[in-house]
Amino acid sequence: MANTPYPQSYYAASANPVPPRPALQGEVETDICVIGAGYTGLSSALFLLENGFKVTIVEAAKVGFGASGRNGGQIVNSYSRDIDIIERTVGPREAQLLGEMAFEGGRIIRERVAKYNIQCDLKDGGVFAALTPKQMGHLESQKRLWERYGHTQLELMDQKRIREVVACDSYLGGMLDMSGGHIHPLNLALGEAAAVESLGGVIYEQTPAVRIERGANPVVHTPQGKVRAKYIIVAGNAYLGNLVPELASKSMPCGTQVITTEPLSDELARTLLPQDYCVEDCNYLLDYYRLTGDKRLIFGGGVVYGARDPANIEAIIRPKMLKAFPQLKDVKIDFAWTGNFLLTLSRLPQVGRIGDNIYYSQGCSGHGVTYTHLAGKVLAEALRGQAERFDAFAGLPHYPFPGGQMLRVPFSAMGAWYYSLRDRLGF
Ligand SMILES: Cc1cc2nc3c(=O)[nH]c(=O)nc-3n(C[C@H](O)[C@H](O)[C@H](O)COP(=O)(O)OP(=O)(O)OC[C@H]3O[C@@H](n4cnc5c(N)ncnc54)[C@H](O)[C@@H]3O)c2cc1C
Repeated sequence: MANTPYPQSYYAASANPVPPRPALQGEVETDICVIGAGYTGLSSALFLLENGFKVTIVEAAKVGFGASGRNGGQIVNSYSRDIDIIERTVGPREAQLLGEMAFEGGRIIRERVAKYNIQCDLKDGGVFAALTPKQMGHLESQKRLWERYGHTQLELMDQKRIREVVACDSYLGGMLDMSGGHIHPLNLALGEAAAVESLGGVIYEQTPAVRIERGANPVVHTPQGKVRAKYIIVAGNAYLGNLVPELASKSMPCGTQVITTEPLSDELARTLLPQDYCVEDCNYLLDYYRLTGDKRLIFGGGVVYGARDPANIEAIIRPKMLKAFPQLKDVKIDFAWTGNFLLTLSRLPQVGRIGDNIYYSQGCSGHGVTYTHLAGKVLAEALRGQAERFDAFAGLPHYPFPGGQMLRVPFSAMGAWYYSLRDRLGF
């Protein structure tokens, strides 16, 4: 049977120890079968177990193998598209609910870390950095927008103030969110998996769901077994493939790449990011970076539509890092990897139910660390019969990508090129 290891990343190299988790052999019965052990699957499982359900997770590779174990580690609140878009798309009641939930994911992460004593280098403070006056204006209106939904902890920063928190001369200003922050993403996922098991949940690794038998009593088929369940949660996101064909047409896997430097001296690390906040810029194709627990710089950026793996990641990302921090020109890159997130046309998450008993959440389009934790809670609420917040997400409309399966990649790349040109020209 296939044994898929973690990709070679800084996170895999610094992961906390984990117990062996064998593949499923034979038949098991459960209340809820979760497909995928990323944050969406693990968060759903935890909320369900805390509410007395029996939960079984099948994971094609390993806990956190997907985006959850490879991401930039940035706790970024709200959604990949903002609430003003949501306000224009759905009714006022749904917009109110979604707006109120926009910062809940970050709180859930902190509650989980505290409750289950998860060692994942959690730090508070995230910066949105503006490169153009237009981006600064957008941050100002975003702050006003978020404040309307009760999120009042944000600080706008002028050029002098942002220079105090990040040693990059390109920024005109920014916004600081102290309820943002950063984590070691794989260790967060591994800690959540341990919490799932401490509550009696079962996780089978190296166990892909290869077919879902639908009906009143659905069955998830795996290469050497099956899971009979009352409900199924599909949480495979960009790695799901065509297991649920209805979901594939309205979303597109995309790759993004990350590099990690060798450990920096304390002094150099302090010069770059004195308060140890994480940073993302406001470009359409954004750069994002932060320090790790052992003072390396993790830097990510760019998007490969259609999720083809680039041959030389360092050659793509290192120039972006040196543009932000020329002072790192002699610093060695120890790790470089790629990972896939799932893009929707609206860049809002795709949430819903197929038939009576198959639930899904996916497609948070780049900003998913907080949303996926919220999604787990919202899915669990729906399974307990409280579907108001689930319905608010499920009501977000989704459309197929222009060009269909054949042309969606070149069409989206052209769109992104256009938006990044506007960023460069300051429009
Ligand atoms: C490189 C990178 C950097 C990012 N940086 C950030 C960031 O800094 N901040 C932020 O907010 N977001 C970031 N994101 C996005 C964020 O990581 C994701 O939105 C989030 O982790 C998605 O979680 P998930 O559980 O839905 O999916 P995943 O973590 O991808 O998990 C899906 C899991 O399902 C499994 N699976 C798939 N199909 C099957 C099947 N048939 N049977 C069984 N298992 C299956 C996969 O193996 C995988 O483990 C980044 C993403 C990437 C790729």
